[in-house]
Amino acid sequence: MEFLQSEQLFETAQQYLPGGVNSPVRAFGAVGCAPVFIERAQGCRVYDVDGHELLDFIGSWGPMLLGHAHPALLQAGAQALSQGTSYGLPCRAEVEMAQLICEAYPGMQMVRMVNSGTEATMSALRAARAFTQRQLIVKFEGCYHGHSDSLLVQAGSGAMTLGVPTSLGVCTDALRHTLLCPYNDLQAVQQLFEAHPYEIAAVIVEPVAANMGVIAPVEGFLQQLRSLCTQYGSVLIFDEVITGFRLAFGGAASYFDITPDLACFGKIIGGGLPVGAYGGKQEIMRMIAPAGGVYQAGTLSGNPMAMAMGLCQLRLLQEHLEWYTQLDQRAAQLQAMLNSSLHQLGLPFCTTRVGSLLTLFFTPTPPQNNQQAKQCDTTRFAAYFRALLQEGVLCAPSQFEAMFLSTAHTQQDLCIAADAMHKALAQVAQL
Ligand code: PLP
Repeated sequence: MEFLQSEQLFETAQQYLPGGVNSPVRAFGAVGCAPVFIERAQGCRVYDVDGHELLDFIGSWGPMLLGHAHPALLQAGAQALSQGTSYGLPCRAEVEMAQLICEAYPGMQMVRMVNSGTEATMSALRAARAFTQRQLIVKFEGCYHGHSDSLLVQAGSGAMTLGVPTSLGVCTDALRHTLLCPYNDLQAVQQLFEAHPYEIAAVIVEPVAANMGVIAPVEGFLQQLRSLCTQYGSVLIFDEVITGFRLAFGGAASYFDITPDLACFGKIIGGGLPVGAYGGKQEIMRMIAPAGGVYQAGTLSGNPMAMAMGLCQLRLLQEHLEWYTQLDQRAAQLQAMLNSSLHQLGLPFCTTRVGSLLTLFFTPTPPQNNQQAKQCDTTRFAAYFRALLQEGVLCAPSQFEAMFLSTAHTQQDLCIAADAMHKALAQVAQL
């Protein structure tokens, strides 16, 4: 399979777009080839500019839970489009969206719509700091919460360390108030609370980590975060930008039966259009302008098209809660087929999975934190990715991402994928 048109487009793109892309994850740098340029998408397949049909496990990095170009969503989008694309004034769909999120999500009383997950987490932290009148936040190494300054930080070598920027251009001052912990390390969190009692405004966490590959929270981890935040009067923020409406209709909060004080959303709630939201307890959310003194605004926030398509996706899910069980079962089947291939080929790798999020880790045992995830064999992952692409299957071009399943992936699609994965792994086994 050749990707000549994609390569040519990438060549031109690099002259006009930094790195040839509008988001670094799309660059395929880690897997040593040019990105695939997509022309259209349908169901669980994308069609590239070279005319290939590819079985897609990226799903736009999460939003396409019902697959691409779902007819009902397209219709909702077209209907909204015909009524104008943005008003800069409130519309009915924003109210309906907020109401639906509040009904779906544990403890959710008020919501503010924004345009991206980045805005959602950044604004939730501001609200938490205002509410607690404290400065410090706790973030976990390997969890990604978007690219705002105070969250763009990775851990140093110690278990507990003050942040150093992950990115150039981030003031070290912006990170002075960000404390880091390894994911799943309760003792480290406890020590941070003991070292800074009543100074921590918020703990922000991906309830299932999906940005260092899929890493499930260990037994008791989220419960203990809940208890510590309650004990010390800190705000617990679940970043559900990936997990929201994916693990369950009520997100990870209902999946694990733990209610955070605030939660952040994105991806699925926009049905494929740019969107984000944060919300939670009324006493915190009432601090947001114009109700309160925390300023946060957005020209396109609550955009009527994003609301229409997002609402359509959420309502379909609400009407078909059995789809969550189905997604879980299908993902479990794919995982079992992958495990069986690894076993047959004698490859010392493993899979992790929570609901419809899945990672094939090129490590012998499932990692529990970023440090362990980083031990994986990225060279062999890259070879696997390229071999898989040649088989017509598209996974995220990084070891540290999830495979996103959708309701559009049929059992037959998953068998095709598993077969392709077996062939790709067989090639890796030769290396
Ligand atoms: N939070 C999580 C858990 C994410 O995975 C992402 C993006 O992938 C974000 C926040 C940022 O969202 P966005 O890319 O919409 O800014």
